[in-house]
Amino acid sequence: MTTTVAAYAAPSAKAPLERTTIERREVGECDVLIDIKFTGICHSDIHQARDGWSEGIFPMVPGHEITGLVEAVGSGVTKFAVGDRVGVGCLIDSCRECENCEAGLEQYCHKGPIGTYNALDKNGEPAYGGYSEKIVVDENYTFRIPDGLSLDVAAPLLCAGITTYSPLKHWNAGPGKKVAIVGMGGLGHMGVKIAHALGAEVTVLSQSLRKKEDGLKLGASHYYATSDEATFTELRGTFDIILSTVSAPLNLDVYLSLLKTDGAFLNVGGPEEPVALNLFSVMAGRKTLAGSGIGGIPETQEMLDFCAEHGLGAEIELISASEINDAYERVLASDVRYRFVIDTATI
Ligand SMILES: [Zn+2]
Ligand SMILES: [Zn+2]
Repeated sequence: MTTTVAAYAAPSAKAPLERTTIERREVGECDVLIDIKFTGICHSDIHQARDGWSEGIFPMVPGHEITGLVEAVGSGVTKFAVGDRVGVGCLIDSCRECENCEAGLEQYCHKGPIGTYNALDKNGEPAYGGYSEKIVVDENYTFRIPDGLSLDVAAPLLCAGITTYSPLKHWNAGPGKKVAIVGMGGLGHMGVKIAHALGAEVTVLSQSLRKKEDGLKLGASHYYATSDEATFTELRGTFDIILSTVSAPLNLDVYLSLLKTDGAFLNVGGPEEPVALNLFSVMAGRKTLAGSGIGGIPETQEMLDFCAEHGLGAEIELISASEINDAYERVLASDVRYRFVIDTATI
């Protein structure tokens, strides 16, 4: 038997989100029914709800930064019990048998991971995300939220946290490494916190110095404005790692010049347009230009445990569901410190 729950959906591309109801599938053998408490607003929710990445499935219920409490479990569930504090991120399933799934890199599943929304689930039904009261998810794609983390500040970790944690870990950000975080938004502010907690010396490269005080408070040692051309001459050859979290296209050649020999520029932002690159920018200094997308299931749990251990949650502005459309405009105007989180009790 399906469950009818209230949700906020975009009825079509570019239409404002509005309250509606959706059906959640019957709790299957390996499923958990989650009573959602909080859902973060990710910049990619806006891209997709407004069809920036094209071929969106409408009506669309966005939301892939979900935390809540387990309300029911299927007969075969072994990892969770009713009342447990849990989270759901960007994936709700994958093929489970390809090389990447076997390696815990479900985000790079050869058959394509199944997104939490704007995707068809394994039954061929549209998947609806976290801007809703409840969700049914396979236990293998559900995370435990450690006791040290409040559910509201934990929600954005499920996308913004893991998206920055995964590349920082993979490229060994840590003691003795100079790491620049480009962009001081939802992803960027988590990048600062995590890189600092990993032991790296952190510099923020932001459009202006408007958020400098916050950046230094969150763990950065240095803060520069990219609108100031002197920044690029002063910091030439400085960094081991540059993590770009911005979704606007950057002048990659200029940013690559800020790396040391063997340095790596890691992109996790999602510009809608292709970008240009002069390949001499990577050849000179044997540099790496790489990308990374979210994280796998084991690494996401590792990130949550790491954040709990280091007392890292997101900086959030809690909003009610009726404020979602306004919040979208404010995200686009970079007017949020640093993640909107919907109190789903208001849906
Ligand atoms: Zn996201
Ligand atoms: Zn797979």
